[in-house]
Amino acid sequence: MEKWPIGVFASIDAGLGVKLEVVHALGIPTIHLHAPQKATRTRENAEAFVKRLEKLGIRITVVFGGFEGESYADIPTTAKTVGLVPPETRAERVQEFKEISDFANLLGVDTVALHLGFIPHDAGEGVFDEVVAVTREICDHCQANGQRFHLETGQESAEDLLQFIAAVDRDNLFVNFDPANMILYGSGEPVEALGKVAKHVRSVHCKDATWSDKPGETWGAEVPLGQGAVGFESFLGKLKEIGYDGPLTIEREIPQDPERQKAEIGAGAQLLADLRAKLLS
Ligand code: MG
Repeated sequence: MEKWPIGVFASIDAGLGVKLEVVHALGIPTIHLHAPQKATRTRENAEAFVKRLEKLGIRITVVFGGFEGESYADIPTTAKTVGLVPPETRAERVQEFKEISDFANLLGVDTVALHLGFIPHDAGEGVFDEVVAVTREICDHCQANGQRFHLETGQESAEDLLQFIAAVDRDNLFVNFDPANMILYGSGEPVEALGKVAKHVRSVHCKDATWSDKPGETWGAEVPLGQGAVGFESFLGKLKEIGYDGPLTIEREIPQDPERQKAEIGAGAQLLADLRAKLLS
């Protein structure tokens, strides 16, 4: 496989990613797929979808879970509604994620990922231990499917993420590193954080953002690739340094304006291809 193939976050009937037609039109060879809704996750649909992807020459590298009721409206709402942290929905979401892992398996995909939510900082706190326990349960389910499980980064510092990974203590637990989330949530300088969690990183999101004037309290702003504070030449330089050679998956979710979304993803893909040529030559 080519080093650093370009990718994009895509969706079929759920999530905010681009449609497959757009991925194909842009000539992008890999995707992270937002898991489709329950009714769509059948064996028949999986088989048909695999055939369609083969025809389009697109490969899924990660299937991302997401749940009804999640909202990223602002940081407090995110903390209250996202992932496996909210106790009211935890059990049903763990069950649904196992089903997503099984669907990914039908698609022949060896990696599933999830934004776990705002994990409390302190080991020994009730919620921390509970989230560790359900993460183990998910890792073990994925292991039985021959899959890795990737944690989406963002809302925690590199140190907190390392502590959580150590507490879960599973060989198939890795990190999907999203540099823009570090900036959006105000949780640390992304390139530096990437260096700290390096050995756990098995997939990345190429997304850009600007810092909030109140980091950690209010969102920064998500902006087109190359126009924010990530600094993609240093980000890719760090990926090279740590020996990462997987896909560079663009995440740009503005479904309310598909034309703009397509144009921005095309420009982002070009920027990444140019940097790749420069850094890998
Ligand atoms: Mg992301």
